[in-house]
Amino acid sequence: MCQLSRHSKIEVVSMAKERSAYGVALEQLRLAAERLKLESGIHEMLKVPKRSLTVSVSIRMDNGGTGVFNACRVQHMDARGPFKGGIRYHPNVTLDEVTALSMWMTWKCAVMDIPYGGAKGGITCNPKTMSKGELERMTRRYISMILDIIGPYRDVPAPDVYTDSQTMAWIMDTYSQIKGYSVPECVTGKPISVGGSEGRNEATSLGADLCARDAAKRLGMKFKGSTVAVQGYGNVGWNAAKIAFDWGAKVLAVSDSKGGICKKDGLNPYKVYEHKMKTGSVVDFKGAQDITNEEVLETDCDILIPAALENSITRDIADKVKAKIVSEGANGPTTPEADKILFEKKILLIPDILANAGGVTVSYYEWVQNLEREHWPMEEVCQKLETKICKAFDDVYSISKKEKCDMRIAALMLGIGRVADAIKILGLWP
Ligand code: NAD
Repeated sequence: MCQLSRHSKIEVVSMAKERSAYGVALEQLRLAAERLKLESGIHEMLKVPKRSLTVSVSIRMDNGGTGVFNACRVQHMDARGPFKGGIRYHPNVTLDEVTALSMWMTWKCAVMDIPYGGAKGGITCNPKTMSKGELERMTRRYISMILDIIGPYRDVPAPDVYTDSQTMAWIMDTYSQIKGYSVPECVTGKPISVGGSEGRNEATSLGADLCARDAAKRLGMKFKGSTVAVQGYGNVGWNAAKIAFDWGAKVLAVSDSKGGICKKDGLNPYKVYEHKMKTGSVVDFKGAQDITNEEVLETDCDILIPAALENSITRDIADKVKAKIVSEGANGPTTPEADKILFEKKILLIPDILANAGGVTVSYYEWVQNLEREHWPMEEVCQKLETKICKAFDDVYSISKKEKCDMRIAALMLGIGRVADAIKILGLWP
């Protein structure tokens, strides 16, 4: 009975079709704009990216044929500083998705109070079926085609799904070769040997775990000894599981695109990683039980870290989430319909634009180090990140209490409010 009445309250929203990523981003903007009483002109400006460039990337494939890949770079808003955002390689990349991701980057940089705007890039391809040579040629050709709109003071790319430090090194080299001199500050997430920052690989996950730790404190819980489930076992997921384990949490379940695994007395993330490196997946890990991806999200645990793709926690799954804290390592993993359900269930959700902002923050530190031709030690990077993200967590938490809203709306209000202030103060030219 109780269940039914809760469902009926959210029926109108939940009957709506789950939206595309851009649809979700627009709905989030609308909700925050309403609370902020945002000027309609600024709201209109923020709904659409300032610039979107689509290109067709043609390369020589290993078999002698020609591969043609659709790609884009979307630059949402640069009122607070140069555009910044990752590049994604995935078969499902669309302009819609990349536009949403660019918008979230704008809010994220503003929430963290770092001087960047938001951008994102993507190539629709299946990197799992491509050789290293094909990936290199595709990356270099793509960069040469968007070269005019990127650069250290224009738009600084970084890694995202299925791109890594090697991809960033190819980007730096392509950009530098065309310019005729070395420009490490044109891209972040590079290997340390060519100007990468200490701690960049783990930064997103460290941020997500720091936010979960601070959320646990607010709920009167301890991170040490808590139970954790992680969806996705790539850069963000595996590092989040590893750090949680190192801090004394018990990692009950993890997953990747092939499925999930769980173990009641806890998994060793290092061993799971070794297994994934050997077999290509976390599934069939010795001593663990294979489960579905949904079951990982529904694990009875204290902290859930979705670290795969968008729209993972839908309204149906939200109903079954048992965690007390959700720390969004991924971008856009929870739909607005699911947000409402989690809020009603009093689950403390730390939204993507805060929880996974550790990545862009250390990217920013990498850019600063490159511009200054400096290299900071690991402790300095981690300390700076901890100070910055914990401050942002406090700011967002305070707004959520003051406004009696969830942390997502609070973070959007903080980020969008800061961007709107910058737009107002710059004015419109001419
Ligand atoms: P990655 O390519 O390293 O890993 C992605 C992981 O997700 C892989 O393990 C893959 O198997 C898994 N996956 C894909 N589909 C899945 C599914 N349906 N169910 C479960 N797992 C699935 O990518 P990443 O860099 O770890 O990025 C993951 C998420 O974090 C993305 O949403 C990305 O935008 C976000 N993010 C990444 C960074 C960063 O620094 N890498 C920063 C901020 C946000």
